[in-house]
Amino acid sequence: MGLIEHRQLIILGAGPAGLSAAIYAARAELKPLVITGMVLYGQSSLTHTIENYPGFPKGVGGMELGQLFEEQAKAFGAEFLVDEVQAVDLSRHPYTVSVYGGDYTADALIIAMGANNKRLNVPGEEEFIGRGVSYCGTCDGWFYKDKDIHVVGGGDSALEEALFLTRFAHSVTIIHRRDTLRAGAILENRARTNPKISFLFDSVVNEIRGSEGVEELLIENVKTGEKSLMPTEGLFIFIGHSPNTTFFEGQLEMEPGGTLKIDEHLETSKKSVFAAGEIADPHFRQVVTSAGMGAAAAISATHCLENMSCGL
Ligand code: NAP
Repeated sequence: MGLIEHRQLIILGAGPAGLSAAIYAARAELKPLVITGMVLYGQSSLTHTIENYPGFPKGVGGMELGQLFEEQAKAFGAEFLVDEVQAVDLSRHPYTVSVYGGDYTADALIIAMGANNKRLNVPGEEEFIGRGVSYCGTCDGWFYKDKDIHVVGGGDSALEEALFLTRFAHSVTIIHRRDTLRAGAILENRARTNPKISFLFDSVVNEIRGSEGVEELLIENVKTGEKSLMPTEGLFIFIGHSPNTTFFEGQLEMEPGGTLKIDEHLETSKKSVFAAGEIADPHFRQVVTSAGMGAAAAISATHCLENMSCGL
């Protein structure tokens, strides 16, 4: 497939980081091209109501917020290409981004391709997302006031989120597939001494059942093979994340947790390749922090393009 176009700046991804980068880059008159991928507006579009994004005191739908970001970026001249990245070649400058439709080259890139919560891949999981299955305590915890809920996972995220969820829930049962936790001692101690938290060890969720919402879990004890049905009013799954870095393996340096390594200007290990949002954020993972990183990456990209120092 031949070269379609050269651009000053291409933004990969259209979640809060990519769209916020597009607003800033478009206002700097860089006419950025946003390659959206097939999931518009990123993981936040799965959230029914975002109540902690500043400026929306009554909350805003995840999809609606994404649409507003897109409208704002387009108003300043950002262009959107609904296509999927197939390859990125960072070995030569200008850099090449290949999509199904052909190849684009760019002086600078902002990588904002996000991360995906790992899924359990059990029956009922997909069906009940947003109706009792959640991957974000900060986003959805409030909806589980006084409810008896379950959390899957034994790492820091599972325990930290379980502790957060005790602010709302009546009880939180942590289901872990082994009998020792992966989480650090401080979080383990806090969870074990929290009266609202109990543990179900050596257990996995084989199926999530319900009608309008989640009602029960089919649990298997992995040591005895015994199966049982457990009533629940909500299931939070925290079994790790996978940053979408496949295209950059061998091309960009990564952190031990798998996110892209960036410096204080959000530049990756390659000159004029910036990264923002969850692909480069092992800690915060919020819509507002991703949007902030997107803005910062666009400001850095603007500086390098203005100084004609991109890719040198
Ligand atoms: P993680 O450390 O990889 O833990 C994932 C947990 O999910 C593990 O307990 C794992 O079980 C379990 N798990 C994985 N796949 C599963 C499956 N298919 N079915 C059932 N259980 C499954 O991930 P994380 O907790 O998201 O943490 C990621 C990184 O961020 C870690 O380095 C962590 O220390 C860091 N973090 C730190 C903090 C903090 O310091 N406050 C907070 C959050 C995250 P096994 O243990 O059996 O493998």
